[in-house]
Amino acid sequence: MRADRSTTAVIVGGGHNGLAMSKRLSDRGIDHVVLERDDVASSWRTKRWDSFTLLTPNWQTRLPGRTYEGNDPDGFMTGPEIARFIAEYADAVDAPVQSNTNVTAMRASSAGYDVVTDQGTWRCRCVVLASGASNLPSTPPFAAAVPEGVEAVNPLEYRNADQLPGGGVLVVGAAATGIQLADEIHASGRPVTLSVGEHVRMPRTYRGRDIQHWMERIGRLDERYDEVEEILKARGVASPQLIGTPERRTLDLNCLTDAGVQLRGRLGGIRDGVALFSGGLGNHCRLADQKLGRLLDDIDAWITEHDLDDGVEPPMRAAATRLERNSPLTLDLKTGEIGAVVWATGFRPDLSWVELPVFDSSGRLRHDGGVVDAPGVYFLGATFLRRRKSSFIHGADDDTHDLAEHLAGYLAAPDQHFVTTQHGG
Ligand SMILES: Cc1cc2nc3c(=O)[nH]c(=O)nc-3n(C[C@H](O)[C@H](O)[C@H](O)COP(=O)(O)OP(=O)(O)OC[C@H]3O[C@@H](n4cnc5c(N)ncnc54)[C@H](O)[C@@H]3O)c2cc1C
Repeated sequence: MRADRSTTAVIVGGGHNGLAMSKRLSDRGIDHVVLERDDVASSWRTKRWDSFTLLTPNWQTRLPGRTYEGNDPDGFMTGPEIARFIAEYADAVDAPVQSNTNVTAMRASSAGYDVVTDQGTWRCRCVVLASGASNLPSTPPFAAAVPEGVEAVNPLEYRNADQLPGGGVLVVGAAATGIQLADEIHASGRPVTLSVGEHVRMPRTYRGRDIQHWMERIGRLDERYDEVEEILKARGVASPQLIGTPERRTLDLNCLTDAGVQLRGRLGGIRDGVALFSGGLGNHCRLADQKLGRLLDDIDAWITEHDLDDGVEPPMRAAATRLERNSPLTLDLKTGEIGAVVWATGFRPDLSWVELPVFDSSGRLRHDGGVVDAPGVYFLGATFLRRRKSSFIHGADDDTHDLAEHLAGYLAAPDQHFVTTQHGG
């Protein structure tokens, strides 16, 4: 165990957010260290399935001071490729990373904070929580009611369909992860039932360009947390139904239906081994279709406003989501028909080591756009933290810019920067 050390700021986590923040602090001459329990970009190497690719195109994979420079800007990086991109970034910005250093506690001290690790304690004035927003699967309380004999798997441990037992698979959740895993597992020959709640339908391409191109051009991804109504609701919106493949295919519920996946409503509970689905599938699909229509209307309007109609493909609208009439509301998990349940119901951060009174009654971190409700403490990487793009890799650019500026201001005048936050995290 090494002796205590001190620095101005401790960044916990050597993912892209921690490293981008390190670059921002270095640019400002702020002494700091990045503590990483494994090695940089660990989550992309250890927490993603074998066939994983980013759903964001290569041209969008950019960090402060670094853009994609390969020869496939419209392609999608695999897990190892994005891990390499981030590791190269750590070298390029000369980030002071201490690998294999697990942070086990963080407490207030007379000088600021003590960050306790399995390699000793760091004293500092500021702490940046960049340990990730997807450390743990977020599963409903009734997940424990999956009957014995049915395997329960979450996306952080899923690697490929071969690890699942034979028989049918119930995939719960139809955000990006759920639809991608449903597609892959179904292609492996296992019948898949997909439980669908509120979701975000998106075509891979529109009017000849990647949908992410238009999302950026119309400014949708730059929308700020303090400009939208109901930020808590916006933070709970599912990731878009997108997949990154060389052929740039769209993967929506109609594609899954065509492949033979059975769609069911939102899973509301499991009673006596029987999965109970809500009857709201039609409503959820209609809502997603309507929201997609509005997004495409906005894109069309932007194109016309900028006099670009002649240079791009004409507008088009996808067919409404097709649904089976009277789809069953129950699925008996005890018959042997279903061998596994995949909980693609989202992720949550693990901040259990933060020993500060900064959590609300639901256990959510209290922060105002990443400025945590404790002086000199910052948070990065959560959905819609400061902007709609905050949870995407390229979102780190603006978010670390803003938070590094706040941190520098705090160091210069600590008393003026103790904000009482108004927004829940
Ligand atoms: C399944 C999935 C798919 C995604 N796909 C995309 C995509 O296509 N495009 C996109 O832009 N974004 C995507 N994201 C979102 C986002 O880019 C990633 O979640 C990204 O990994 C977040 O980066 P981060 O630096 O905030 O956290 P992480 O990459 O999770 O990094 C946090 C680091 O902190 C370390 N750590 C955690 N706890 C401690 C501790 N106590 N002590 C020391 N170190 C610790 C971890 O080992 C890890 O290396 C995806 C997310 C998920 C979950």
